[in-house]
Amino acid sequence: MRIVVCIRQGTDGDISPFDACAYEEALKIDGAEVILLSMGPQPVADLLFRLTRLGAKRAVLLADSAFAGADTLATAYTLSLAVKKLSPDLIFCGRQTLIGDTAQVGPMLSVFAGMSLITGVMKIEKADGGITCLTRDEGEKTAKLPALITVERINNLRLPSITSNVGSVEVLSAKDIGADTEKCGLSGSPTRVINTFQNESGFRKCKFITFDDLSAVIKEGLSKSDPTIKSAPVSGKKLKKVLIVGESPRAFAETVSDDIYVCESESEKEIIEKIEELRPSAVLFGSDSVSKRLSSLVAAKLRLGLCADCTCLETDGEKLIMYRPAMSGSVIAEIESLTVPAMATVRTKRESSDIVVAAGFGAYECLEKVKRFAASLGADMAASRKAVDNGILPYDLQVGLTGKTVSPAVYIAIGVSGAVHHIAGMGKSGTVIAINPDKNAQIFDYADYGIVSNFEEYKIQEENL
Ligand SMILES: Cc1cc2nc3c(=O)[nH]c(=O)nc-3n(C[C@H](O)[C@H](O)[C@H](O)COP(=O)(O)OP(=O)(O)OC[C@H]3O[C@@H](n4cnc5c(N)ncnc54)[C@H](O)[C@@H]3O)c2cc1C
Repeated sequence: MRIVVCIRQGTDGDISPFDACAYEEALKIDGAEVILLSMGPQPVADLLFRLTRLGAKRAVLLADSAFAGADTLATAYTLSLAVKKLSPDLIFCGRQTLIGDTAQVGPMLSVFAGMSLITGVMKIEKADGGITCLTRDEGEKTAKLPALITVERINNLRLPSITSNVGSVEVLSAKDIGADTEKCGLSGSPTRVINTFQNESGFRKCKFITFDDLSAVIKEGLSKSDPTIKSAPVSGKKLKKVLIVGESPRAFAETVSDDIYVCESESEKEIIEKIEELRPSAVLFGSDSVSKRLSSLVAAKLRLGLCADCTCLETDGEKLIMYRPAMSGSVIAEIESLTVPAMATVRTKRESSDIVVAAGFGAYECLEKVKRFAASLGADMAASRKAVDNGILPYDLQVGLTGKTVSPAVYIAIGVSGAVHHIAGMGKSGTVIAINPDKNAQIFDYADYGIVSNFEEYKIQEENL
């Protein structure tokens, strides 16, 4: 069995964390021939060379100036040409990279490579003759080979041993893979970043309170309107014909159009038929995992630009301007689509309960109490990565850059230090309340209310909530 693992180099020069998990899963499959594949500048060859020490005997780097500036569609197209040359039984991709943070390349590549697809893989149960995986959101899934899977953060990549051998790294140009350079890099990318600016929305002015005030601020937070929709049409003009897939993007769509059509289907074929029949100016999807996969498949099949995780939309009546967080949420990118309809996934209204209680590593000693507190509020539990990595809570509760994104009306962070990686997953919440005995903890910079105290000292007031 031949497995191609798609790798992207992160800003730290190392393999992207989800890709590392994909590589480890491939190495675990008995007797598999593992080939690493990356598109990037020439220096990525050094990373690939280092990674071959872990087990892959061969790596392929697609390096050519024609590939520079590629968005997800152009990246998937370019990778698919190398995949055709390598003809694997399986492709393993990480769920997403931390730079792009879109989760689009895997599904788009499956379209261009003509492979079946399973996303959000937590465990591979069988890979012979067909692949069966346990997924994060959709239970057990089976696909025929050849297949592409996207892997969650489910393991730690092994370390090299002193005796491990290195493999070969082959560098291929656009010509080597027979690429149409008009479909590669910037010229093949239907989405354009028009502008980027500092994201200051994560910062909040923290008011320090005591445990006595906690119930009141939770109630106040619950009474406020939805925090996720922030939109201001530049001209007062609106877009004609906006198609929404499911009801969840409606509130976003209403900020740019009065002419909204709904497609309730979860089949990409039916969505494509609806787009071809209606010819809308924009198509909006939610940002849950199924919507992300569906939108990527539709975009790849129609060769349309797709902007992921928009937090704000604008229009001049002609064009849709999309805003999304980038670089771990530190930057906001303003993006337009060069193809019509413009397509976007939008960070939809609360995909979690109205209240989320997040336990960080600091909640270790009082976890049972934190759980009781969450239950008393009817809240969902969440966790920081350190809490997950230390086995305090399961991975599917992890919020942040390598976890999930939540935006409840009230987010209560207990024992969370407030690393930017965590903030990336909850910064859009309505009211943020932080409980931490360290008054200098960074979480207070991102909280509306702070309690400088040990959570052990809190007396749960079930009757008030
Ligand atoms: C590439 C990459 C991706 C990452 N992705 C994520 C991600 O998706 N999500 C994520 O969360 N992190 C992520 N991280 C990790 C992140 O940088 C932090 O290490 C992590 O968020 C810290 O977790 P923590 O706040 O629970 O733990 P700590 O940093 O250990 O903080 C614990 C806090 O608890 C407080 N505390 C102690 N006792 C109590 C008590 N009794 N009551 C209340 N407070 C108490 C302490 O004062 C401290 O501030 C990522 C890191 C990297 C490098």
